[in-house]
Amino acid sequence: MTSQAYQDRYEQLLAQDMYSLNTAEKEGALLPVIQALHQHHKLHSPAYSRLVQHYRDQPDTIEDVPFLAVRLFKLFSLSSISDDDVFRVLQSSGTTSQTPAKVILDRITSARQSKALVKIMQNFIGKQRLPLLVIDAPSVLKNKALSARAAGIQGMAFFGRQTVYALNDDMTLNTDALNSFQKLYADQPVLVFGFTFMVWTCFLEALKAQKLSLSLPHGALIHSGGWKKLTDKQVDNPTFKREVTRLTGIPRVHNFYGMAEQVGTVFVECEQGHLHVPEMADILIRDPYSLAVCENKTQGLIQVISSIPTSYPGFSLLTEDVGRVLGQDDCSCGRSGKYFEVLGRLPKTEVRGCSDTQVSV
Ligand SMILES: [Zn+2]
Repeated sequence: MTSQAYQDRYEQLLAQDMYSLNTAEKEGALLPVIQALHQHHKLHSPAYSRLVQHYRDQPDTIEDVPFLAVRLFKLFSLSSISDDDVFRVLQSSGTTSQTPAKVILDRITSARQSKALVKIMQNFIGKQRLPLLVIDAPSVLKNKALSARAAGIQGMAFFGRQTVYALNDDMTLNTDALNSFQKLYADQPVLVFGFTFMVWTCFLEALKAQKLSLSLPHGALIHSGGWKKLTDKQVDNPTFKREVTRLTGIPRVHNFYGMAEQVGTVFVECEQGHLHVPEMADILIRDPYSLAVCENKTQGLIQVISSIPTSYPGFSLLTEDVGRVLGQDDCSCGRSGKYFEVLGRLPKTEVRGCSDTQVSV
């Protein structure tokens, strides 16, 4: 059961343009939704209720909203719905040494995620559905448990038509598919989507190795999934963009920051290379030791706040990612609100050290 107060306020928020309110106006619009979510999860998730029992009854500001460590979703199955209402369980793509996070979704949360993603992305790629090239293999959608990778592709499919997969099931380039996609759509806008590391290794490096290139001069590439593995290869965002354009002709490249624990609220990179905070979400940067909110431009741990989830208590999460707010309301792309950058992850040993002793549900 979702409270009517939450539902009404959420609908109002979604009806807005995602980047028109300034930071002060945005907090005014977002806070009541987040307060309603806090009450909702206190009522419906015994684990959340215990975790926040020492907080005041109602947060007065966004900064006061309690937050959970994102890794709790790897350790526990946190839910605010009855088992009968579970629509799907989303699993983050953990590596073999990592336990994947489990995110419990009901139909309404899942629908809200899709709608929000559409609303946010339309601001960057327009409303028209475009031919879609997915930098992945078709088999990714066949696994029974919905992986974050599959969920991302399903989410982007809302913007696409005539979807073509660029890779074979063994992750090699499907050159026939690429050639026919290029032949059909070289003269018109197309959308290309993939996970950052796969775009680099399975697509760009593979094109290079086979001395191939594409010509999609009206294309836009949307990609996500973290820079950690690419930083190890010494590939930064400008290098990535340059290589995309050189090897595929695609002039527009938008990275976005988002996570399996908060599907739907994505932070998309604008034409200036800044990640923007939409009106239905917020970002706070916290000092990793004191957990106090940092001034703009100071780096710290990223806290993500989303107005979407009612089926699991993950609307305010402290991530293990390091970033900093670069500014607010004055990006030259014209979008209002905060903009930020992600600088990497907290070293693993440090995270284990504190969370092992502090986590208890
Ligand atoms: Zn911008």
